[in-house]
Amino acid sequence: MDREGPGAPLERHVLKTRLFQPGPVPVPDRVRLAMAQALPHHRTAAFQPTFEACRLGLKRVFQTDQPVVMLASTGTGGMDAAVSNLLSPGDHALVIRGGKFGERWAEICARYDVRTTCIDVEWGSGADPQAVKAALDANPDIRAVYLQASETSTGASHPVREIADLVHRRDDCVIVVDGITAVGVYDLPMDKWGLDVVVSGSQKSFMLPPGLAFVALSERAQRFMKEARCPRFYFDLAGELGVIEGNQSAWTPAISLLMGLEESLKIILDEEGLEGTWARTEQIAHATREAMRAIGLDLVAPDSPSAALTAVFVPDGIEGPKLRAYLRDELGINVAEGQGKFKGKIFRIAHLGYYDRFDAITAVAAVEMALSALGFSGKTGEGVVKATELLRG
Ligand SMILES: *Cc1c(COP(=O)(O)O)cnc(C)c1O
Repeated sequence: MDREGPGAPLERHVLKTRLFQPGPVPVPDRVRLAMAQALPHHRTAAFQPTFEACRLGLKRVFQTDQPVVMLASTGTGGMDAAVSNLLSPGDHALVIRGGKFGERWAEICARYDVRTTCIDVEWGSGADPQAVKAALDANPDIRAVYLQASETSTGASHPVREIADLVHRRDDCVIVVDGITAVGVYDLPMDKWGLDVVVSGSQKSFMLPPGLAFVALSERAQRFMKEARCPRFYFDLAGELGVIEGNQSAWTPAISLLMGLEESLKIILDEEGLEGTWARTEQIAHATREAMRAIGLDLVAPDSPSAALTAVFVPDGIEGPKLRAYLRDELGINVAEGQGKFKGKIFRIAHLGYYDRFDAITAVAAVEMALSALGFSGKTGEGVVKATELLRG
């Protein structure tokens, strides 16, 4: 790029690195400090208050009275457990496949020899409940429905509540929701909607490093567990359920991450409040979407957007990898790339977790700067105007 012109060459400036991928998201300083404390031993009284605060706080975030198991793994470990603990080889599952993470449900099922019927949803769209109803009606032996609440690869959300209502018309079927970019992002009330399993992970709305998966299980899911014969050892949730009420885990817990979780739950539940967290996330998501439109860019999921992130098509004439590289190397802004068939075609900006209004404006400004540096002829400048207007408060 041209380094002439006013000011010092860019490499002499301090360049801050900013994370805008939908996981991991930035970790607040006080959460990092909580994790830096000396380790208590997990089987001692010194650790019990932390475990208990996490156990009870998670129930509030998941909006459930059911147990929420904490596993030392990333979110995918929780998804894995949500298949192996509920079903047996040869069982039939329905999978809603509208992106990379929907594909993951199908891959996990296949690995356990669970038969799947997949509803392929156009990437960027939400699932159609009528298609789910038709699939359930045509396949009375379906025992579990797997879906994402928020499909992070496309930025779309699925109509979980409507689908849960359909599943509930049968009493031999469970609904399993990957809520990894929905829990703590927007309203997804597990008990009220009758969701049987909800999975989440630490590096998304919980503002922690990766390494914890959370799996909440309804009574029906716990009943399924007793009959499920898929092989499992580390991820056998019966072991966790047997000891969790006593503030213990089956194996050594990720002690430092739980110390961080105790702190982040204080922020989410006691300081901002769950509804405040949802409102902030929705506000910056809305402003970012409108800003992208104002620039003249197309959204990947215009009709059913998730507040967790905004996915945007790279405009014609611009190369996706170059745009991301410019944002990262020249501006210090890390956005996520497209996955699977969207590779090189989209970029994604996170809103879930530790982001405020000025973070959103920064991301919008960076996209405009990068696009104009790469020769984009759209309305750069309009995005920041729009975002600022919507975020003025
Ligand atoms: C991040 C994410 C996951 C989990 O990914 P890990 O890399 O295992 O943490 C699963 N589903 C969705 C929708 C996600 O956004």
